[in-house]
Order: sequence, then C-alpha cells, then structure tokens
Amino acid sequence: MRRIVFLGSPGAGKGTQAAALAQELSVAHLSTGDLLRAAVAGKTPLGTEADGYIRKGLLVPDDLVVQILRERLDHPDTSDGFLLDGFPRTLAQAELLDRFVPLDDVIAFEIPEELLIERLTQRRLCPVCKTVYNVVTAPPRIAGHCDRDGAALEQRSDDLPDAVRTRIAVYHRQTEPVLKFYQDRGRLRTLDARGTPEEVRARLRALLGLPATP
Ligand SMILES: [Zn+2]
Repeated sequence: MRRIVFLGSPGAGKGTQAAALAQELSVAHLSTGDLLRAAVAGKTPLGTEADGYIRKGLLVPDDLVVQILRERLDHPDTSDGFLLDGFPRTLAQAELLDRFVPLDDVIAFEIPEELLIERLTQRRLCPVCKTVYNVVTAPPRIAGHCDRDGAALEQRSDDLPDAVRTRIAVYHRQTEPVLKFYQDRGRLRTLDARGTPEEVRARLRALLGLPATP
C-alpha cells in the first residue's frame, strides 16, 4: 500500500513521471481533471452536482472535489494505493483530504521559474495528429512542420509567454499554502525537476527509496 501525492507547477513534468510510476507500482493514477470527468460521465449524484458548476463555467467547490475523490478511493483499483497527480490544489482540499486518508509521500517538483517559462513557451503542437514538439529539446526534422504529416505546427495560446506567466502565478498563489501545510507536518519532500525526464526519474526513485532501475 503506497499513497503518494505529486505537486508541481504546469510544465514541471510531474504528469509524465506519475504515469510511469503508477504503472510500475500498480497504483491508481488520479488527477482532478480525470476524476471530475469520470464522475460526470458516470452520472453519479456527486458527478451530476459537479457538472452543474462546470456547465456554468464555475470552479467545482473544494468539498465536492474531495467527496468525489473519497468515493473514487473506494474503488478496488486503489487497494494497493494511489498516486494523486496535482491534487490537493488548495489548502482547503489538503485539510479535507487529511481527515480521511493518510499519505505516505508528498513530493513537490521544483524547477526555477525561468526554466519553466522556457519549457512551456518552446512547445509546439501539430493541429492534425496532436504530436507535441519542443523547438529546442525535441524539434521536428523540418522547422515549423510536423514529421508525420507536414502540417504547420502551432503554439497553444496557453503557451504564449504572458499566459504561461499567469498560469504559473495562479499555481503559486493556490499551492504555496498546500506546500506549507505538508511542510509543517514534516511530510513534504522536494524533488529537483530540472534536466531530462530520465534524470528526474532517477532522482525521484532515490527519493522514494526505490531501486535505481525498475
Ligand atoms: Zn502531425
């Protein structure tokens, strides 16, 4: 049984690490977006309530998100544990979560802000096949065009410099109190998330006390 939380800003690379680790440890990989989508699609009473907020373009209240998570954790696929990817996002969610589930590891992915901005603004997306490129670390063979279908690559409006700065600022404002909450309880561990996915993976494994290779 292993209950893990990954916290980190957009672009910190936690989604990639979370997917690989959850599969290796046979624990459920849960993110808020997926949880809400599943509850809404399943038309559970809580999902229907959440859908009411989503349809109005409102944020789903913290206590409702936590109730949906709690229901999800009764599902048998979490019997060996779970990995929460980017949850809790607010202090209220962290406090509510703390009342009904003990956590084993809370890992904060740390990366200098300038590097994050660089990573996110270098992303390009193929509008046809949805392949993601990075103009510096994973460029297409012909600049500006998709390797698979030759389509002109696009930059998501979310990945433009000003939008990226706003996303990072929102993350910090919401999540700093969450980090402090776990730090005050002696449960927060920070992970240096600079470098390649392989380098980050090696540091993460060491932090979790896992053998160097799976
Ligand atoms: Zn393409």
